[in-house]
Amino acid sequence: MSAKIISGTEVAKEIRAELKTEVETLKAKHNVVPGLVTILVGEDPASQSYVAAKNKTAKELGIHSEQITLPADTPEDELLNLVAKCNQDPKINGILVQLPLPKHIDEAKVLYAIDPDKDVDGFHPVNVGKMVLGEQCFLPCTPHGILELLTRSGVETSGAEVVIVGRSNIVGKPIANLMLQKRDGGNATVTLCHTRTKDIAAHTKRADIIIAAVGVPKMITADMVKDGVAVIDVGVNRIGMSDSGKAILAGDVDFAGIKEKAACITPVPGGVGPMTITMLMKNTVQAAKQAAGLA
Ligand code: NAP
Repeated sequence: MSAKIISGTEVAKEIRAELKTEVETLKAKHNVVPGLVTILVGEDPASQSYVAAKNKTAKELGIHSEQITLPADTPEDELLNLVAKCNQDPKINGILVQLPLPKHIDEAKVLYAIDPDKDVDGFHPVNVGKMVLGEQCFLPCTPHGILELLTRSGVETSGAEVVIVGRSNIVGKPIANLMLQKRDGGNATVTLCHTRTKDIAAHTKRADIIIAAVGVPKMITADMVKDGVAVIDVGVNRIGMSDSGKAILAGDVDFAGIKEKAACITPVPGGVGPMTITMLMKNTVQAAKQAAGLA
């Protein structure tokens, strides 16, 4: 069996087309233009490319986008003042502070300073708490993207054994929470694995759905999965450089081996990555609707 490839690029394209129409309608009918600001501190090349991709996508969808870049030695106070200014700015509906921040800045302090109504990354404790309670909120973008990939690809989650490898606050923990919610796209039986898990393969072997978010290239191998599994590979690992100077990427699963056993699998690149940016846009449009009293 060779797995069906779940193309995040294609699903993201579909959602972006829906969002573009929604943005046009908001503008035409309500004179509302969603606005996103991205704040980057420092010159980390990966962060620069993520921020550039977010602003490019925003512009393509008709979202007003502002990109603020600050030097790496920006004092914490200055960044907090900027966030406070963006909180007050009516043109801005979504505030994204690109992580990681330089070491001298307290990341939590900055994220907690963002108005929860503009927290389109879904990292503020107010939104995290609402997510856990199953209330309406901004969902964190990568887990939200994974849910969309699963549901739009027709993968049944209700009653499924889901094994998630990785327990970070931005991927593992929130996707575990979302998949056990009592609603469509949830209702799964969830196991969360991490570095202290005694026998990861014993868990992954009985999984109907595996979500890998570890940051270790090709860690999940074919002998660790059962036939017919659905695999979502969140990992983005730079494993080399091509002759043209482009980074060679690998996911957290051994794609070549597992695709012969799985029912469906996401590739890297072109899987979860494009979905993360798309869900950021979805949250920004949602924030604009809420600010205008339309949602
Ligand atoms: P993270 O914060 O570094 O967390 C990694 C998690 O994996 C931790 O819970 C860690 O366990 C666990 N882990 C690491 N090595 C392990 C091992 N050998 N065995 C078992 N568990 C192990 O990473 P993250 O931010 O969640 O990101 C994970 C991967 O996804 C990275 O490659 C990242 O680049 C990628 N990512 C992609 C997107 C996207 O949009 N495509 C978005 C976010 C992240 P402990 O808790 O025990 O340390």
